[in-house]
Amino acid sequence: IWENVLDYVRENVTSVEFDTWFARVKPLGLTGGALELGVPTSFAGDWIQKHYGHLIQEALLRLGAQSPEFRLKVVPGEVVQDAILQEDARVPAAAPRTRLNPKYTFESFVVGPGNSMAHAAAMAVAEAPGKAYNPLFIYGGVGLGKTHLMHAVGHYARQRFPEIRVEYVSTETFTNDLISAIRSDRMNQFRERYRSVDMLLVDDVQFIAGKERTQEEFFHTFNTLYEDGKQILLTSDRPPREILTLESRLRSRFEWGLITDIQPPDLETRIAILKMNAERRGVQLSEEVLEYVARQVASNIRELEGALMRLIAYASLSGVTITPKVAQSALADLFHTAGEAVTMDEILAAVAEHYGVTPADLKSKGRSKEVVRPRQVAMYLIRQLTGASLPEIGQFFGGRDHTTVLYATQKIGKLLAEDAELRRTVEGFESRWAGRG
Ligand code: ADP
Ligand code: MG
Repeated sequence: IWENVLDYVRENVTSVEFDTWFARVKPLGLTGGALELGVPTSFAGDWIQKHYGHLIQEALLRLGAQSPEFRLKVVPGEVVQDAILQEDARVPAAAPRTRLNPKYTFESFVVGPGNSMAHAAAMAVAEAPGKAYNPLFIYGGVGLGKTHLMHAVGHYARQRFPEIRVEYVSTETFTNDLISAIRSDRMNQFRERYRSVDMLLVDDVQFIAGKERTQEEFFHTFNTLYEDGKQILLTSDRPPREILTLESRLRSRFEWGLITDIQPPDLETRIAILKMNAERRGVQLSEEVLEYVARQVASNIRELEGALMRLIAYASLSGVTITPKVAQSALADLFHTAGEAVTMDEILAAVAEHYGVTPADLKSKGRSKEVVRPRQVAMYLIRQLTGASLPEIGQFFGGRDHTTVLYATQKIGKLLAEDAELRRTVEGFESRWAGRG
């Protein structure tokens, strides 16, 4: 279970933080239902508790642990002279080389309609760094596989060209490195590090917005690499033109090569991803269960994987066979407690309650005034908040045609402009689930 907790932590902190704080943490076992972890020093323990305690608890909850409690125990030993003893370790002057996550390869990347363009472009770049598209700019929503693709390019290029120097860096890390380089008067080292690579992978470049010094420095890094024919790969949650307060000279450079987006995966792709993940964990799941889970989480693959992990942990702890019903109860509280993406069921239930009807009424064929409008509102909200496609929503509402859903969402969209009461209702719902999409 600790391995899974670590996976979760790894995805939510920078790799420098991870290496600094979690590399030396050892699971000691379960005492009284609480996970006990060995840490090298009490300083490290305090630090982890304070800064990452909530993350560990979150991971435990997601994994279906009975209690999110954990205890840290100091186990000194081989680690005495480790950097972890020094408070300075928080801002390592020469950050360790950011490694590529071995899990993020092309082999483990499922291609579907939403990401096939980005995948093809990434492949082309990996096959011929600096020659295909330069830079390659991939944008798309959270948890849709941008980072995964980027690492895959790095792995692939390394396999093909063993000499190639690949550097992966999040924009945050780039910024932090820059700041600490300035502070410690090590700009030469900083420049050397980023300008001497053959392939630079810069993740989440939207965070460069508003950071003048970082933009300035990155501009020169970009030029040096570009002029030398080195490959640059960038990801962002939005296209360059929508990154506000981005210097125009950088924006135009981001647009020099190829810009491609990643769209949320359709149902089939989500099922395929779940299937692959389950198989990798040696778990067999029926088509119904896969489909059930895939329908619950439509817009974020990380959430999708989280749900699956949770389900597998639940099943192995309780020893039951996973049926759609079991999946439903295993995941129900997950969707309610852990700040997960809001589900279609949840929206349906809330809208039904608001209008004093039942969820079944909304799914029924009934056309009375009392259910038609609430049904349209529910469709509209589901469309806005879950990223489910029109056919999926139609299916969810008792097998209606996608044109019906389209009509409903357009209708509500129009009414919102005219009907203040409706607008309040809809906005109330949206804010209730804000940040959970
Ligand atoms: P982003 O960087 O766009 O926020 P990530 O690359 O971190 O998203 O992806 C989130 C999670 O979903 C990762 O665990 C990743 O492996 C997985 N994932 C995303 N897209 C795919 C895909 N097409 N096939 C398999 N796994 C995927
Ligand atoms: Mg990412």
